[in-house]
Parts: sequence; C-alpha cells; structure tokens
Amino acid sequence: MITGTTKVCALIGWPVEHSLSPPIHNAAFAAAGLDYVYIPLAVPPDALGAAVAGLRAAGLAGINVTVPHKVNIIPFLDGLDRSAEIVGAVNTVVFAAGRAIGHNTDQEGFVSSLAAAGVTIAGRRAVLLGAGGAARAVAWGFIEQGAAGVIVVARDAAKAAAFAASFPPGRVAGCGWRGEAFAAALGCCDILVNCTPLGMSPHTDEEVPLDWAALCSGAAVCDLIYTPTATRFLAHARERGHLTVGGEGMLIGQGAAAFTLWTGRDAPREAMCAAFNEALCRHETRNKN
Ligand code: NAP
Repeated sequence: MITGTTKVCALIGWPVEHSLSPPIHNAAFAAAGLDYVYIPLAVPPDALGAAVAGLRAAGLAGINVTVPHKVNIIPFLDGLDRSAEIVGAVNTVVFAAGRAIGHNTDQEGFVSSLAAAGVTIAGRRAVLLGAGGAARAVAWGFIEQGAAGVIVVARDAAKAAAFAASFPPGRVAGCGWRGEAFAAALGCCDILVNCTPLGMSPHTDEEVPLDWAALCSGAAVCDLIYTPTATRFLAHARERGHLTVGGEGMLIGQGAAAFTLWTGRDAPREAMCAAFNEALCRHETRNKN
C-alpha cells in the first residue's frame, strides 16, 4: 500500500510505455518487504532539467534514466560515479544528502550476466558489433574485468576509431563492418556481443550481417536485446554450437545494481526475473494483437 512514508523511485524517458522496468522494480520492492514504489514518467526532452529539479525537490530516492536522456541529463546532476564518467551516460541517479549523483549500472549488469552464464572475461578477446551507448558500457565492463582486448565494429570505421580512442590507450581497437580487420577479429574472438538493435521487436526478422564461418568456433555469443529473448542472431549461434547469452540477464543485473544503490540492500533477483518473464509475455501478446 502506498502511504505518506512510501519512498518513490521513477523511470524517466520519452517514451516510457514500452518499459519492463516498473513491474521488475515493484516486484523487487515487494519481495524485499520495502516501502518503495517505482513509477514510469514520460519526460519530453525540453523538460528534462525541470523534471530533474522537480523530482529532486519532491524527495525521490532515485531514478532510472532511459532514451533519449542518458547523456543529456549529465549537466543537471551534481556528480558522476566512475562508470558513468567513463561510459559518458547515466542510467541511474541517486538523490541523497541534497545531491544528485549519476551512475551507469549497464556495465555491471552485463558483466553479471556473463558470470551467471559461466563465461570468463579475464584474458579473453571480445568483439562488439555496434558503437552506441550500450557498447560503451559493455566495452568498459570488459576493460575493468581484464579482457585481453576489445574490438568495436561500426558501420562507419571512423566512428569505431573515435570510440576506441575515447578509452584508455591500447585497450580498445576499432574497425568497419567490412574488410580484413573484421574477419581477423572474428577469427580470434572469444566473446562476440551484438550491441546493435538489429533483430529487436518488432523488427525480429532483421539480421546482424555476419560471416558465421569466420567466427572462432569456441566463441561465446551474446545479444543485448531482450525483446525477444531468442533473437535470430542467438538462434544462428546456437545452431553452430556456440554458447549463447541473451540480454535479459543484463537488464536484471543493471536493475539489481540500481536497487542496491537506492536501498542499500541486495536485490531479490529471482523475483525480478519472474516479473520480467511475466511482463515480457504481456509485451509479446500486445505486439501480436
Ligand atoms: P544506440 O546508442 O542507438 O547504438 C546503436 C548502435 O547500433 C550504433 O552504433 C548504430 O550504428 C548501430 N546500428 C544500428 N543499426 C544498425 C545497422 N542496421 N547495421 C549496423 N549497425 C547498426 O543504442 P544503444 O543504447 O547502444 O542500444 C543498443 C541495443 O542494446 C538496443 O537493442 C538496446 O535495446 C540494447 N540494450 C540492452 C540493454 C539490456 O539491459 N539488455 C541495455 C542497454 C541497451 P551507427 O552509429 O552507425 O548508427
């Protein structure tokens, strides 16, 4: 029951109707027996500063931040943690002691999803397809966990090179989708990650353009997409005998890290997974109708 003592967390984005985070977080608060509630708020881009000031003044415990506000929110905050600083984007804000601090929990979510699947990062060579915001969090996760190398692949080779140059020297290399550098990277890749939206609902027929024969046969294959959980990309990988990791583990992991930042408690991951599965069923049914 919501009362005068209930602490409030929110998701801000534009739009937010599609988000699975409200059911996941409300299930987590209920399972942990915490007097918290989580609400989605559609905040138009030109109202972002006013919204952050208003939510802070209203005494919220914290917020999640989604597209298109992850970068633009930074000037309205009092500081960033190291992950948000390196990734250059914020997905979680903690309001405490009169300050608003931005965090990025995507990298922690991604790393925890690999650990749960039994995939070791230290000493491994990773190839990331796509050079957007999620790829930055994943690249930082690999660097922090001691990967032997990270190669980022983008449609525009110059964009991949700029992405690589924005990380500490020698940790990330970049190349274009076509050419020998990409083929060579696939040949010695231990972990391949799709960080593009190709194949995401409702465009589930879209395919990541990849020469599967060039990929090292022992590589683990990951997709950040979680709607659907079984993308074509992962289906191809499974057919070829690769270990696969879907995006739902990263979603739960980043949410669990935000839960801990807001409440100081370990997150009830099982309740969050159950809520995710239920919310996904509703999402898929809505899309079919
Ligand atoms: P983003 O910032 O828009 O970046 C998308 C990247 O994909 C860009 O580099 C873009 O290339 C590339 N791309 C788009 N269409 C492409 C195509 N047809 N061919 C080749 N490359 C293409 O998006 P994001 O925030 O990084 O998100 C990427 C994906 O990760 C989305 O599916 C999102 O849902 C998912 N995600 C999942 C989680 C999770 O918790 N599981 C968290 C965050 C994101 P250009 O730069 O050339 O346009």
